[in-house]
Amino acid sequence: MNACVLLAPGPVESSPLRMVELPKPAPTGRQVLVRVRACGVCRTDLHVVEGELPPRKSPVVPGHQVVGTVEACGPEASRFRPGARVGIPWLHQTCGLCEYCRSGRENLCEKAIFTGWMADGGYAEYAVAPEDFVYALPVGFGDLHVAPLLCAGIIGFRTLRLSGIQPGGKLGMYGFGAAAHVAIQVARHWKIEVYAFTRDERHRQLALDLGAVWAGDSQESPPALLDAVLVFAPAGELVVAALRTLKRGATVALGGIHMSRIPPLDYDLLYHERALRSVANNTRRDGEDFLRIAAEIPIQTEVREFGLGKANEALNALKNDAIRGAAVLRV
Ligand SMILES: [Zn+2]
Ligand SMILES: [Zn+2]
Repeated sequence: MNACVLLAPGPVESSPLRMVELPKPAPTGRQVLVRVRACGVCRTDLHVVEGELPPRKSPVVPGHQVVGTVEACGPEASRFRPGARVGIPWLHQTCGLCEYCRSGRENLCEKAIFTGWMADGGYAEYAVAPEDFVYALPVGFGDLHVAPLLCAGIIGFRTLRLSGIQPGGKLGMYGFGAAAHVAIQVARHWKIEVYAFTRDERHRQLALDLGAVWAGDSQESPPALLDAVLVFAPAGELVVAALRTLKRGATVALGGIHMSRIPPLDYDLLYHERALRSVANNTRRDGEDFLRIAAEIPIQTEVREFGLGKANEALNALKNDAIRGAAVLRV
């Protein structure tokens, strides 16, 4: 099969991903073999490719928003029939035994395996994954348009939930890429007012097009204090900016897996029961809840298509804020 692999991390400008021929994987145990049709490009892929997330498997096929059809099932797999359309997400597998897994917090499992980092992902014609961690995808979405729901969508949804925002509330979003462009649609559906903060004029326009009541630069003050803020951009200084916009008792939820250093904080910014929390991965329950809501709304994703051989180019565009919505590889 054709696959786009990372041999060694490096700046994306040096094109660290290479197209190679790899043996088609064979499903074992309860795995399914998926013929990949599309794979979303996530900022986490950029962190893997550039080495901010240290290599855990090398070489590795990145990509964890994998859309395709089941082609074959392992000898113990019984959940899907060949031909079923499925999505392989970031959470590839958990141990099922630890205190986190047993208490509904499998997103925190210390033995979790993540797709496209610790197991090969979807920048390839085929991928395997355990059937229990694969999603059945709602009909009504094309392959390219459903791909960004699998991480940007699900993580954005968990971040939204953990921010504690309530219907009618005022919500800030820092960084207006793939995750925010989906999360705003859920927020609007819940009658929440959205304030978008981003340095990029095109992203401010996208936020306004999607119903934000206000859009400004990340260092601007919004016209009202906010009930919660979601930070999707990986820049630590935004944490300080976000805390300044909060009402008393409100939360800043950080949706990324990697962030540059957070500058020192004056305690006054946090006092009055303001809270700062990170969001790590997601549970399968988050994914199922989100995909159901995404189909109900229905969420419209804006995607820019790249060929599998153009993965370096797609990541470069993502790094330079040049993607309106989400980048997706057509495989
Ligand atoms: Zn576990
Ligand atoms: Zn992701």
